[in-house]
Amino acid sequence: MFGRRRLFGRRRLSGCTDDQLLLMREAGLLVGRTLEMLHGEIRAGVSTLELDRLAEDFIRSHGGIPNFQLVPGYSHTLCTSVNEQVVHGVPTSTTILREGDLLSIDCGAEVSGWNGDAAISVIVGGSEAARPEDLDLLAATEAALYAGIVALRIGGRLYAVGDAIERSILAAAARDGHTYGIIDEYVGHGIGRQMHMDPQIPNYAVRETGPKLVAGFTGAIEPMVTLGTSEATVLTDGWTVVTTDGSRSCHWEHSVAVREQGLWILTSLDGGQAALAALGAAFAPET
Ligand code: MG
Ligand code: MG
Repeated sequence: MFGRRRLFGRRRLSGCTDDQLLLMREAGLLVGRTLEMLHGEIRAGVSTLELDRLAEDFIRSHGGIPNFQLVPGYSHTLCTSVNEQVVHGVPTSTTILREGDLLSIDCGAEVSGWNGDAAISVIVGGSEAARPEDLDLLAATEAALYAGIVALRIGGRLYAVGDAIERSILAAAARDGHTYGIIDEYVGHGIGRQMHMDPQIPNYAVRETGPKLVAGFTGAIEPMVTLGTSEATVLTDGWTVVTTDGSRSCHWEHSVAVREQGLWILTSLDGGQAALAALGAAFAPET
């Protein structure tokens, strides 16, 4: 989130040490636990500001700082994006969730000077309240996130992530019989001492191959996928990004570490063990 596309320069990546990754795991785990807590609080009648307050209390009471509040001009803990809102939806007391709404929650925390950043999307009221195409969109976007994550490997190229996400979404569109659009103006990013760091990580195929991945690289992978357009625009509040055609949009994100032995999904409660095993990718938690 917050990352607007710009030209991708050639640069060498740097990696975190094992000790630094342990600190980043603390931040990532707090983000994962905050999202898990919020998941249980999402229901019709709840305002997005109530969810934001719960998240702030949870993060602060566990020794973290809501790092979205460190972004100039932003004073909330979450971004809560409903239906045609893509990302950067601002929590308000008047945004009351309704059955069948598609809610994307983006959450970040800083612990001991290190950052985590992750997002989930859910249907308010669960699958019984959902439009079938929204359930397809959620599944396709989450699968694309993991396809992008397992494209990360030492010695590989960073923009393989976008290739894999785009391939996954195209396959899902053919299978599901929907038109899916990958939002192209907002991209993933490096993460570490700050939430948003270079390099940017596109969610779609680009001509360049990107920098070579090194051990200890940490990035936030975050596909934003719609039931229509790939174009987005910002509302007059200066924050909320919406689809230009009003189609619903979905956002999934994890912060991930690339290690010699495999991957460690820092914002996943189990470190990514189950998801990586399902995809045949190596899981490399703390040693
Ligand atoms: Mg992010
Ligand atoms: Mg985020």
